[in-house]
Amino acid sequence: MALAFVFSLLAQRVPCVGDYLDEETLNRMQQREEYLQEQMTKLLLEIEEMEMARSRMGLQALLFALLPYWKIVSVLCLFVFLFWFMWKIHKKFRGVEDNSGVESSSSEEQQQEQQEQQEQQEQEQQEQQEQQMQVVKVKAKDEFVFADEFWPIHTHQEDGEQILSLLHHLIDICQHIAADTFYPVPAHTTGVGSVYEGWCPLVNKPVFCVVVPLLAPRGHTFHPDLGAPEELPARNSRVRVQLECTCGREQEMRMRCFLHASAAELRNQKSNVLRNLCTDSYLDVEKTAQWFQKLIRNAWKCRHSSTMRSLNVTQSKRSCRFRVTDVYKKIFLVEMLFGVQQDDTDIFLSSQETEVGSTPSTIWPQSCAVAEAKFFLLVAARAKERNFYIRYMQVCTYILAGLNFSVYELKTVLMHLLTAIPLEGWHRSYFLERIDDILRYLRCCVEEKHLGHFFIGNEDVPAEIILPQDFRESEPLNLFEHLEDPERHEQALQELEELQDRLLSLLIYGK
Ligand SMILES: [Zn+2]
Repeated sequence: MALAFVFSLLAQRVPCVGDYLDEETLNRMQQREEYLQEQMTKLLLEIEEMEMARSRMGLQALLFALLPYWKIVSVLCLFVFLFWFMWKIHKKFRGVEDNSGVESSSSEEQQQEQQEQQEQQEQEQQEQQEQQMQVVKVKAKDEFVFADEFWPIHTHQEDGEQILSLLHHLIDICQHIAADTFYPVPAHTTGVGSVYEGWCPLVNKPVFCVVVPLLAPRGHTFHPDLGAPEELPARNSRVRVQLECTCGREQEMRMRCFLHASAAELRNQKSNVLRNLCTDSYLDVEKTAQWFQKLIRNAWKCRHSSTMRSLNVTQSKRSCRFRVTDVYKKIFLVEMLFGVQQDDTDIFLSSQETEVGSTPSTIWPQSCAVAEAKFFLLVAARAKERNFYIRYMQVCTYILAGLNFSVYELKTVLMHLLTAIPLEGWHRSYFLERIDDILRYLRCCVEEKHLGHFFIGNEDVPAEIILPQDFRESEPLNLFEHLEDPERHEQALQELEELQDRLLSLLIYGK
């Protein structure tokens, strides 16, 4: 209706438009037009308001129509909620019943089930580890990856040889200085321990450790006194110093016989070793260390020109420790241990202390360090490959960090396996198999609580290693005797798992 009114107004305007209208008429028409447009806007607004009011009334009418059914809808919602609530309660009760069923079963069955489950889990875990190891092996073979890529060898070999060369030169001078005295005669050194065996971690500051064999001076003999015969290696052994008859060899030895010459004849000839380095005729480690420290300082002063610039001896009770600096200001730490050879064997009575700070000064414990160094040299010579065993020790040292297994125990395992498996099998392409063997061997030893000392009671020690008779004839010495303690045994078994995990992590992720 409003629209019809608008159109009628517009229709009224049309006949008024003409070509001949004057100015006044035009103004009126414009005013009229503006008025009509205002009216039209008002009407349109009214129409919109009317439509909105109609739609509001429609919604109210719909709600009003639904009002009688709200009770039904509410009841339906309530039923749905109750059904859900009952289902939840039912489910909870079923869980409790199941648990009470398990609890009511006999304790023996329960234990058996638990044990079976545990065994199954362990078996699964072991299978999983074996599979992972297999994957690593296959991967290694497929990609033709050698041990060098898994674990390249880094050693302090060059520095070690430089130190040995310096010590060789200094020992020559020491021998010259000691030649006219009755002090012990130092012999040429043997590099021992992790640096010279090649497996010292590169991150560690290396200590170049050597054994200086001490020979008895002219007219004297050193007698090893091993203490308790049943203890091997002997911890309480001592070195007794004795005079020997040199009658008939005076000219050759440039001396009078200590035993048979008169006091007047011996006026200018005194036993330096017995007077200055012994306590009750036993060679005193601490006195020997002090004497040798002076000797090495004197030898340093007499040396020929070398690449080393300075030598500083540091405090040490049972050895000779010093820092030596080369022309490039690189510092090397050196520790010289003293050793008295037991007969003509590779076993020495050593100045190395067994327990820090508590070894009496006349005690020289038996040491296999020189025999171990000789064993590794021998095996390397047979294999015609100098450093092949090093990476095994380096890997073992790496994965052992922080665990109770000692590096010496792993080294013992390696030595046993090196004599059991043909040396061709240690080629770098078999690296993973051999590393796996080392851990399996260790596992067997832990399970049996027995790891045999390599040099005591072991028939497989190569004949080239010269051992005292009692070492060869003795019963095998068990290095895992402490695992008889159930707690320590359990801990060792757990640490084995940790070792296996660390090895896999190392092989797969490289760390
Ligand atoms: Zn004599």
